[in-house]
Amino acid sequence: MVELKVNGLVIREINLDSTDKMFTLLTDEFGRMNVVAKGVKNVRSHFLSSTQLFTYATFILVRLKDYYYINDCTVIENNYDIRLDFKKLALSTYICDVLYEVSRENLKEENVLKLGLNTLYAIAKDVKELSIIKASFEFKIACEIGYRPDLIKCRNCGEENPENSYIKVLDGFFLCEKCNSMIQNTTDIVDNNLQNIFYMSFSMLCALRYLAYCKISRFLSYNLEDSEQVIFCNFCEKYLLSHIEQDFGTLEFYKSL
Ligand SMILES: [Zn+2]
Repeated sequence: MVELKVNGLVIREINLDSTDKMFTLLTDEFGRMNVVAKGVKNVRSHFLSSTQLFTYATFILVRLKDYYYINDCTVIENNYDIRLDFKKLALSTYICDVLYEVSRENLKEENVLKLGLNTLYAIAKDVKELSIIKASFEFKIACEIGYRPDLIKCRNCGEENPENSYIKVLDGFFLCEKCNSMIQNTTDIVDNNLQNIFYMSFSMLCALRYLAYCKISRFLSYNLEDSEQVIFCNFCEKYLLSHIEQDFGTLEFYKSL
């Protein structure tokens, strides 16, 4: 049997029976991998803690038919602090669900993994407010998987720094206020619950520009006025969910808390 050594983040776990479980790893080299852990639920199992959700570890795996089996592992980061707070736990579970949906098997997922690790660390260590960590992750992951919008200039007139602008979620570009009022009647659309078009102040546009192009390790190094955070966070959530065409029960649960 050929052994495979990977660094992976546990993003999903499923109980198979009273002793065994299956978990999903997100790795940089091989993307998403399903791994079976036999006897792992025994309290004396060496792998009990290392196969828990949010754990990042070095795993030694062997492949048998369609699944990988765990042979050994060494924990790098267990993100334990997430488990001490109900809201952090709920948000992190949603983050892992998104990572699961957007990652692929047998393909490199270096950036998706890096952003996942940075996000869970930020949640565990209170690097910023949870709402901003969540929104930053949502918009950044959308950019990383191919949905980076054009934020350089107004698509119609070329204005680069408009005081006010509008972004239609699925269009992938923005219009300045003047062009927007010429082209579409936003008063109906902005006000209704569909929220297909979002108003952006210049500072919100700058925050999106920052997120779209920043290094993953610096994805939280920007500031936004408190008064602008609600619209900004709503936009980032809507932007990701609309592009990947997914709803998440774990997101609804987090929002209900
Ligand atoms: Zn314009």
